[in-house]
Amino acid sequence: MSEAKQEGVTAKKAENFDDWYTQIILKSELADYSPVSGCLVYRPAGYAIWETIREATDKRFKAAGIQNAYFPLFIPERLLKKEQQHVEGFAPEVAWVTEAGNSKLEERLAIRPTSETIIYEVVKKWIRSWRDLPLRLNLWNSVVRWEFKHPTPFLRGREFLWNEGHTMFATKEEADAERDQILGIYREVTENYLALPGLVGRKTDSEKFAGALASFSIEHLMPDGKAIQGPDFHSDGQNFAKAFELSFVDQKGERQFVWQNTFAITTREIGVMIATHGDDKGVVIPPRVAPLQVVIVPIFKDEDKAMVMEEAKKLRDGLSASFSTLLDDRDYLTPGRKFNEWELKGIPLRIELGPRDIKQGQVVLVRRDTSQKRPAKIEAAVEEVRKDLDEMQASLYARAAQSLKSRTNRASTLAELKSTLASVGGVVQAPWCGSHECEEKVKAETGAKIVNIPLDQQKAALTCVSCGQPAELLANFARSY
Ligand SMILES: [Zn+2]
Repeated sequence: MSEAKQEGVTAKKAENFDDWYTQIILKSELADYSPVSGCLVYRPAGYAIWETIREATDKRFKAAGIQNAYFPLFIPERLLKKEQQHVEGFAPEVAWVTEAGNSKLEERLAIRPTSETIIYEVVKKWIRSWRDLPLRLNLWNSVVRWEFKHPTPFLRGREFLWNEGHTMFATKEEADAERDQILGIYREVTENYLALPGLVGRKTDSEKFAGALASFSIEHLMPDGKAIQGPDFHSDGQNFAKAFELSFVDQKGERQFVWQNTFAITTREIGVMIATHGDDKGVVIPPRVAPLQVVIVPIFKDEDKAMVMEEAKKLRDGLSASFSTLLDDRDYLTPGRKFNEWELKGIPLRIELGPRDIKQGQVVLVRRDTSQKRPAKIEAAVEEVRKDLDEMQASLYARAAQSLKSRTNRASTLAELKSTLASVGGVVQAPWCGSHECEEKVKAETGAKIVNIPLDQQKAALTCVSCGQPAELLANFARSY
């Protein structure tokens, strides 16, 4: 009994979120710590979730005409320094290789914090004329940013996995048109697969990517009321093109610089998913990203074991063509222990099958998110399982969307903004004049920064919460990760 208790989650999500979050990740065997601080080990169950995110995103990128490539892990120092804002943004977090074997390198090599500089140094040779454009590349790799803040599994670490989209166009119009396409793909993956809603918007100048003209993000809201940045998209304009001489001859025979974008989705999404949907029993994985969707737990006494196992195998074989299904045939564990384990690991649907069920031609389905049990006809198992998985997927999203909605509020004065942050937390939409001073003042007084500025809003005659000057747009203020 005491052993079983130790294996389970001892922290409560509502009481000690940080402890709960770390416990469910480690105990569910999604990830583990490594001997290098801030560098996470993705165990098979956790890595499989990333594979699904990657496949879903990759399929949509390819359909949009984006091609995958691979570039080296190392970036020579002189390249990293070519674009000034870029190097200033990343310099404090770059890890360097200075030696090989016993000899010191002539030039330090950065371990990529992002690959703009090495890509552009090479692809400038590929682009000669307007016929070579657009060039739309994507990399699936990992990057290293030597953060000194406290690492949190999936949410913040020194190495993470991501996609790096790098695209080049002949005109600003074409480059700008890509924004909605990419943000649309990221929304589809985060909403329809991970069941995670988000707030789409533009970053302020002080929060944008180092070297970009403008950055856009999907911001998620964590259960502790803090916002966290999800996938992002950067309109890089011609800054890098000018620094790296990425130019082409246009149809009139004139030399022009290309217009560029970059974009990314990272393994952080796994952490947001775990935090959003998990409960005091453990992880809850949305069916569409669950590596294992259905687990069958046979329930028997010695005398009916053979009969139950035979039916359970038939059931597994029938379901396996449509769902990732496991028959838990370990005879050294009680059904109760198995239930706890699969609940901790977040498997979407459990099927219980005992001698009485078999006699009645039924199974018992138990959804992980609601713990609701319902009997279903064994011969209709495929349709019934599909129904539960579809409903669970939709219900997880609806619940998260409702939670985001109820924690996204309006304020028209600084006092209102402060009191809403104190009482509800979450996101407060408030008018902002656009000045850096006001952004900083609100941050200093409330601890909340502008996480982004919603794209889908009407301009209106508003007054800035900080200075009282005219403001046209509402900004999303939140405390953040
Ligand atoms: Zn202002």
